[in-house]
Amino acid sequence: MSYLCVDIGATNVLIGTVDNDLEEIKERSTESFFRNIEKELETLRDKVDQKEVFVAAAGPIDKNEGYIFPPNLPENRIQILRPFEKFFEKVVLINDCNAAALGEYTYGRTSAENLLYLTLSTGIGAGVIADGSLIQGATNNFAEVGHMKIADEGECGCGGTGHWEALCSGKNLPRLAEREVGRRFDSAQAFFEEYKKGDEELKPVVEKVIDYNVTAISNLINLYDPAHISIGGSMGLNQFDLLVDRGRIKEKVIHKMPTIERSSLGKKVVLQGLKAISEKEKRREGDYRDF
Ligand SMILES: [Zn+2]
Repeated sequence: MSYLCVDIGATNVLIGTVDNDLEEIKERSTESFFRNIEKELETLRDKVDQKEVFVAAAGPIDKNEGYIFPPNLPENRIQILRPFEKFFEKVVLINDCNAAALGEYTYGRTSAENLLYLTLSTGIGAGVIADGSLIQGATNNFAEVGHMKIADEGECGCGGTGHWEALCSGKNLPRLAEREVGRRFDSAQAFFEEYKKGDEELKPVVEKVIDYNVTAISNLINLYDPAHISIGGSMGLNQFDLLVDRGRIKEKVIHKMPTIERSSLGKKVVLQGLKAISEKEKRREGDYRDF
């Protein structure tokens, strides 16, 4: 009995079919996925025998009305449920970091009952497992930590100033670099490639990002008291050792310092979370509102 899981990221979409295990993972650019969405979904529907799909998208999402707000596309408000409902009998939409937290909790290496999943990617977001339960919030957007104010500089896509995401996300880090050292980079990845070649001029930018990450992550630990923090997202996975300074975070933590590691499930963490939601639902465990 196979079904579909779709992880809609700001830059790429990951699609997995589940038949006991997660298998056959495909990757598309988010732009091309939405350009060909109906054709794509029609093909995918024929690959699974249960006409159900679990969809994760970067927050904030409007779960009831079925809208997502992708930060990187020309169209910044997309009705997601309608095209899926055309081809699938059942569609479940969830915030991607919430799914990832559940994925890490269910299938990851950690055995922590209090866990925070953090994505450092095009945007910054989190998902929280507290005392063994996924916390979703009133609108399924719990822990939009990228919009926590940590400085007085940096315009955020949401209209605010000094939000963590406005300074340290993959999308906004090049703007920070331009303000600090007057040089333009097409992407955070291009910035880090240049830095790792030994370009000392970029060091103050990296130090500033580390400072901001220390402030933000220690705030989160003091607020949520996790035993473990799992960090994912393309920047979180690729630049973990550079950007996460555990020693300095520990100095700002008022209680026990959690373990902080790169996500043990890597790029598949959100898809694994969707699989976990499906299995929870099949067992009819009552922890998850609407599931
Ligand atoms: Zn913001």
